[in-house]
Amino acid sequence: MQSSDVLVVGKGNAALCAALAAREAGASVTMLEAASQEEAGGNSAFAGGVMRFAFDSVEDLKRITDLTAEEIATSDFGSNTKDEFFDDLFRLTSYRTDPELCEFLVTRSLDAMIWLRSKGVRFVPNYGRQAAMVGGRRKFFGGLPIEVSGGGAGLVRSLDQAAGNAGIAISYDTRAVALIYDGERVSGVRARRNGRFVEFAVRAVVLACGGFEANPKWRACYLGPGWELAKVRGTRFNVGDGLRMALDIGAAPYGNWSGCHATGWDRYAPEFGDKSIGDQFQKHSYIFGLLINAHGKRFVDEGLDFHSFTYAKYGGEVLKQPGQFAWQVFDAKAKPLLRPEYRMKQMTKVTAGTLEDLATRLDGVDPQAFLATVRAFNDAVMTEAPFDHTIKDGRGTRGLDPPKTNWAQRLDAPPFEAYATTCGITFTFGGVRINSASGQVLDLIGQPIPGLYAAGEMIGGLFYFNYPSGTGLVSGAVFGRLAGTNAAAAATGRQ
Ligand SMILES: Cc1cc2nc3c(=O)[nH]c(=O)nc-3n(C[C@H](O)[C@H](O)[C@H](O)COP(=O)(O)OP(=O)(O)OC[C@H]3O[C@@H](n4cnc5c(N)ncnc54)[C@H](O)[C@@H]3O)c2cc1C
Repeated sequence: MQSSDVLVVGKGNAALCAALAAREAGASVTMLEAASQEEAGGNSAFAGGVMRFAFDSVEDLKRITDLTAEEIATSDFGSNTKDEFFDDLFRLTSYRTDPELCEFLVTRSLDAMIWLRSKGVRFVPNYGRQAAMVGGRRKFFGGLPIEVSGGGAGLVRSLDQAAGNAGIAISYDTRAVALIYDGERVSGVRARRNGRFVEFAVRAVVLACGGFEANPKWRACYLGPGWELAKVRGTRFNVGDGLRMALDIGAAPYGNWSGCHATGWDRYAPEFGDKSIGDQFQKHSYIFGLLINAHGKRFVDEGLDFHSFTYAKYGGEVLKQPGQFAWQVFDAKAKPLLRPEYRMKQMTKVTAGTLEDLATRLDGVDPQAFLATVRAFNDAVMTEAPFDHTIKDGRGTRGLDPPKTNWAQRLDAPPFEAYATTCGITFTFGGVRINSASGQVLDLIGQPIPGLYAAGEMIGGLFYFNYPSGTGLVSGAVFGRLAGTNAAAAATGRQ
């Protein structure tokens, strides 16, 4: 039996934040990680590293980044005020996000970024993916101008180093399987290491071991038929263990258990994420082209909003199509606007000099129906509004179902390019219910379960149906800190 004050299950962003916060609050801390040291880091290590937090102006950004005078002079960073962040979360979740969790997330988000910086995380402007040149200045759009240097992998590396410096012990290849619970309080975890059971006796446990996105059976059961066929964008270790362990002792399930974050992802990507590729199998520039299914038809409004506000639900729309695939089709006008992930080697792409030739190369697509779709689309483009990719330009289609609301341009400039995508699941929305004042897990009648805390993907109630990009990492930091601080207080008797 091994012991410490606080045990944190997982070693992604939420877990590392919880562990560091617990240590900062004076507790001794152990972390359990199911993966080997090489594979550890969870989805956090696969993340692109963009982070959405509330800020009023560049003055707030200066508290978390070393912006140069030149960068400040030549960039328009915009703002993402608390009100804007609230509005996005409420609008995207169809007004279902838990108001208390949402308020805690939004109001503590900048502070969490400052805290991460104090732990050695480096933030830089996201010029590559979230900015465009306008009138000689780099203008940011989508409300998230900052990313972690080195992406999610850089974030995990920095926090890992901070954990080492803080004397936090990490047990790898150790998969938590059950909570030790006497009906009154959680006092430890049972785990499997090298084929044997080991027990960890502690005063408080923080579960931060992800959702159930890597478990095909749970996906089919909770998300619905067909979801077992999705590719997993990140880690293979998030199979719902933490959720099962908590539910087994009476924790309340909460949030959108039939919902998840899922995006367009290369059709022939491997079953799970590949760290050497990271998030590059994604294809987020569909807003400048058409999405075409096996019947040669469009099936969503590609230009409904900036990709940050549609990408997390359009993966699910691709999954619903026959054969679970869609081609993203572009012409030469769109090419300069495509994000960096369209320039990698490992992707399924075809090119052609004419639309007729392209139609024959779209594997699995009815070519005549595709050509008819393009003709109808081209006829419907409202050419009177000027095209402007830095704003929602209102240049849509007329009389088309589904419409394209912004950035509609005729598909008429060769060469044409198309990219085959399927659905890549990122993480699941359903989780356990926590108390937003302490991060403590609640039971089915709303009573806190003594000794049990949760953070990250494991908490339900924040995201429903959709998600604004960059919120997962910030949620892990905000609620990881909360859980770690309170677990330490409970464990050391300071609460
Ligand atoms: C490709 C990709 C790109 C993304 N890009 C972004 C982005 O740019 N910005 C953003 O905000 N979010 C992004 N996300 C989402 C974000 O990464 C996640 O929401 C976030 O990292 C989840 O953090 P977490 O700590 O809750 O879980 P994870 O980071 O997944 O950590 C969970 C950990 O628990 C471990 N574990 C699981 N079961 C057990 C067990 N039984 N015992 C012990 N350990 C266990 C896992 O091995 C893992 O290390 C992206 C995700 C992916 C996959």
